Amino acid sequence: MTSNNQSSHEMLKVRSERHILLCKVLSFIGTTFLLIFGIISINDQAFFLGSVLLFCMCAGYINLYLLYRNTSIELSVNILNGILLILSFTLLFTGGSQNTGVLWIYPIIAINLFINRFWSAVFLSLIFFIISNILLFTPLSDFLLVNYSLHQSIRFELTLLALCLICLAAIHSEEKAYNTIILMHDEDMRKLAYYDSLTGLPNRQNFKINITRILQRAEKEQQRVGLLYIDLDNFKQVNDNYGHEVGDQLLCLFSTLLKEATRPTDLVAKREPEDLARLAGDEFVVILNDLDSTISAGTVAERILRVFDGGLNVAGIHHSVFASIGIAVFPEDAKTPDELQHHADLAMYQAKKNGRNRFEFYTKEITDELKERYRIEECLKIALEENLFSLVYMPLFDCQTSEIVGIEALLRCQNLEVDGIGPDKFIPIAETTNLIKEIDLWVVENSMATLAKLLADKDFKGKLCINISGIEIQNELFPDNVKELLEKYCIPPSLVEFEITETAFVLDDEKGIAILKKLKTLGVSLALDDFGTGYTAFSQLMHYPADCLKIDRSFIDGLFSEQEAMKKMVSIIKNLAELYELRVVGEGVETEEQLKYLQNIGCDWAQGYFLSKPIKLDELEKLLALSESETVDSSTLSKRL
Ligand code: C2E
Ligand code: CA
Ligand code: CA
Repeated sequence: MTSNNQSSHEMLKVRSERHILLCKVLSFIGTTFLLIFGIISINDQAFFLGSVLLFCMCAGYINLYLLYRNTSIELSVNILNGILLILSFTLLFTGGSQNTGVLWIYPIIAINLFINRFWSAVFLSLIFFIISNILLFTPLSDFLLVNYSLHQSIRFELTLLALCLICLAAIHSEEKAYNTIILMHDEDMRKLAYYDSLTGLPNRQNFKINITRILQRAEKEQQRVGLLYIDLDNFKQVNDNYGHEVGDQLLCLFSTLLKEATRPTDLVAKREPEDLARLAGDEFVVILNDLDSTISAGTVAERILRVFDGGLNVAGIHHSVFASIGIAVFPEDAKTPDELQHHADLAMYQAKKNGRNRFEFYTKEITDELKERYRIEECLKIALEENLFSLVYMPLFDCQTSEIVGIEALLRCQNLEVDGIGPDKFIPIAETTNLIKEIDLWVVENSMATLAKLLADKDFKGKLCINISGIEIQNELFPDNVKELLEKYCIPPSLVEFEITETAFVLDDEKGIAILKKLKTLGVSLALDDFGTGYTAFSQLMHYPADCLKIDRSFIDGLFSEQEAMKKMVSIIKNLAELYELRVVGEGVETEEQLKYLQNIGCDWAQGYFLSKPIKLDELEKLLALSESETVDSSTLSKRL
């Protein structure tokens, strides 16, 4: 609306500027003429005419001055109107020099009309026409300085009438053309402001107005309104891989399919033209008016998902694009338009989280989960600011000698630990924000500080295993940060191992491999954590510069359960690792039996509650001192803790 007004306003301004220029030019030419003819008239002894001409000239100069001072254009036009009328009547009254006055009246009247809008011009024409008729055809004509014959008078009036009609027609048509342009322009602007230029669907602004109107009506008529929030899955890849043009084509195709899929025919809700909208990029909404039941919204969502039928075909290429749809229903899920949109959006995120290419209904749990995520995020920020993070250490033992060969640093957050929230819960949340990079660096720095202390005090030569987020595989700065810290704490790089979960690896991720290789050139080693959970092809994993595989806890846990497959998996991993000369660590050893099994198959290292729980630094120092003073059996060690 505002942009509309603004553009009309701009056009009015341009028009007014042209009007001012016209007045300036006319005033300038007019005053020059008046000066010349005024002097000539005085010279010809026509004192009355000469004085009027010179008076009008003065008024003309004043008007020019006003125009240059930018005072109101209306005032200038009125002054010009006055001057021109006085001039015309004076010429009629005096007959002008050598009785040519009436001839001058025609252009003066024409100018007089053209500087006015249509209806003012009509008014002026009438005034001049009536007064000149009275002056010419009534006894008042006796007062005129010249005698016009009846023939002359009639000819003058008829010519004047014709002139006025021509001028008025011209002014009218110009004004009409101008108004049409303004109207067309306003329509264009309205389209621009309320419709998406790519798909022609209503845009976000338009949607907001519509949903507000629809909910107001629904409240009055006690109807149910469903809102479907649609976000395309994998659309970014299409844009990145095939360019924006193909991306745009895909969006247009989808909007056509969406219109078809939500056609009213047998729809469970009423459908109006403004019920679809494109909110941004690949986000669309569908409003379901007068919905018969909440479940019916799911039927529409299903129909929309079906348009993908395994993807979308654009520009001869099959794209694996799908949609995640969130559904919220008024009045059950939300009372206001904003809330309805927000809840449908949350449900859409839930659909993404639950695997994409699906729809989810909004539930209160979604909001609760989001609130909890938000709270954890806030706690993490505070923990970073107020240094509420700490580390515990989990020793890693050599399966054959039972020596402590390494320690894994595990993060704890004081203000979340009280609620029993550990890293397995808060790290994934930190990963969705930028906090993770700061947290990872905090861990790297503080664990290295510990290692430096253990090196100095205890001459500990085991590995320090540091968990880092998969995010760091894409962080070009990370290897440099590590290098700096290694130098700062004088740590031999061979004593540091970074653990990254297998699931963080993406197929053919060249950038990731490059960053890992850069890390490796520093001299540190790399371990694939939670190995076996990612179902990544082993051959593929070998492209990663790993040194160690950590068999996931779930496999060790299942060793002596009914699942024989678990046992197989552990030995398969062990054999493959041997083939590629990788160290194997068994995680989550909770029983002696499990430890024995790992020892038997030749697993290199083991860690788990049976051997040692994660412990604080002072306890670790005691444990290291103990293991140094005597050679002990690992199970004895755990008993002593
Ligand atoms: P993870 O790297 O697999 O770490 C091992 C987790 O398993 C630890 O839990 C440890 O306490 C637990 N665990 C080890 N042995 C046993 C066992 O025998 N029985 C049982 N029940 N549990 C065992 P924690 O400390 O809660 O860490 C959970 C996850 O959080 C870690 O899994 C790791 O992925 C992540 N994490 C922990 N610390 C950090 C960190 O400093 N940075 C990053 N980026 N992630 C971390
Ligand atoms: Ca780990
Ligand atoms: Ca693990």
